[in-house]
Amino acid sequence: MEEADVIVVGGGPAGASTSYYLARQGYDVTVLEKATFPRDKICGDGLTPRAVGELIRMGIDTTGWSRNLGIRGYGAGNFIEVPWPELASMPSYGLAKRRRELDHILIKHAVSAGARLEENVQVTGAVCHERTGRVIGVKATKDGEACTYRARYVVDAGGVSARLATSLGRAHDRKRPMGVAYRSYMKSPLAASDFMESQLELWEGEVGKSNIAPGYGWAWAVEDGVINIGLGSLGSKGAPKGMDYKSMFSTWMKNAPAEWEFSEEKLLEPLRGAALPMAFNRQPLYADGLLLVGDAGGMVSPFNGEGIAYALQSGRLAADALGQALSRTSIVAAERALAYYAKNMKDELGGYYSLGRIFAALIERPQFMHICVKYGLPHPTLMRFFLRLLSDAYDKEGGDWMDRTIASLAKVAPKA
Ligand SMILES: Cc1cc2nc3c(=O)[nH]c(=O)nc-3n(C[C@H](O)[C@H](O)[C@H](O)COP(=O)(O)OP(=O)(O)OC[C@H]3O[C@@H](n4cnc5c(N)ncnc54)[C@H](O)[C@@H]3O)c2cc1C
Repeated sequence: MEEADVIVVGGGPAGASTSYYLARQGYDVTVLEKATFPRDKICGDGLTPRAVGELIRMGIDTTGWSRNLGIRGYGAGNFIEVPWPELASMPSYGLAKRRRELDHILIKHAVSAGARLEENVQVTGAVCHERTGRVIGVKATKDGEACTYRARYVVDAGGVSARLATSLGRAHDRKRPMGVAYRSYMKSPLAASDFMESQLELWEGEVGKSNIAPGYGWAWAVEDGVINIGLGSLGSKGAPKGMDYKSMFSTWMKNAPAEWEFSEEKLLEPLRGAALPMAFNRQPLYADGLLLVGDAGGMVSPFNGEGIAYALQSGRLAADALGQALSRTSIVAAERALAYYAKNMKDELGGYYSLGRIFAALIERPQFMHICVKYGLPHPTLMRFFLRLLSDAYDKEGGDWMDRTIASLAKVAPKA
């Protein structure tokens, strides 16, 4: 039986961040990962300024990574280019990095800070205290053999399936938004673009004769000559039903500008998809010795499907609360520190996610999407505001009128 101060289940961005910040504080932290790094993760590989800000905080060297300067949105024959804003709280550029490489860099960073990584370990369930029911470890299989790990606290960073939390009855809330997205890679002249290209008019069926899906298509550079290309949609109460993503993707390919040279024959790998758990759709974020971070806590933004920034942020805040708890001598005082993790996450993101839930319910209505694309896109100021809201690229304190408006709306919205 292995022992640690904290066991982190899953070595994606959320697990890497949690373990990095805990190791930096000198705690004994073990990451259990079912795969072996480098491993792939289906993702758009896009890093907004908010995510870049988190990477900078972690001390990740991003020299040579594919950099972008803003978003270019297309729809109804219009397009608008919105550079990332100049803000106090994050840089004015985004990045893109294949997850196979990004996640490897992040977990190596955590290991070099002192975290222990065990690969090929599949966590299968919790070890609970027989009297209190508190989580005191995990059961796992390592190279096919059953084993047990014990710790004072356990963190579920196991992504959308959150197998550990689910096994303890912490199911995802079916009334909260859930997205579905598909992606592949392709060589395209768009790889030379400095912008994240976003197709806001995504037809569910025949162009002009069907509904515009609540979602968007994306294409942006990840490395020399190669773009990540994909599309995603969401439902305000669980995953959207009845969407044929592969056919939507084909329609987009056929109708994209000829100079982008899109063609399904050029895809470098099959189109593959996964679910995006949104707006804190799995709670409580802390109870009975178990914390949830990243996708396990449903932390993808309902506005744009971004989850890496929040995975990194939640890991940072979870490690902060765990560090406080581990340094206290009474259980009551430790529990108080851990309860603060959930409160802190809600203070940071709860209002914003509540706005996102309203947004998800609105864009689900086909008429609303038609009006937005047709009448909204031609208005530069409106679009600048809208894209700042969608990408969570605003200053919570101070800033210009757009920042102050978004911050005020997020402040008055319920804390999700
Ligand atoms: C198609 C698509 C496109 C996306 N595009 C973007 C984007 O461009 N930008 C962005 O910010 N976000 C994007 N996202 C969302 C983003 O991928 C996730 O929010 C992010 O990966 C969450 O990180 P995480 O660490 O919480 O989970 P994950 O990255 O899923 O990591 C979980 C880890 O836990 C391990 N694990 C799982 N179960 C167990 C177990 N039982 N035992 C041991 N290990 C286990 C897994 O192997 C994995 O390594 C996209 C998602 C999809 C599906």
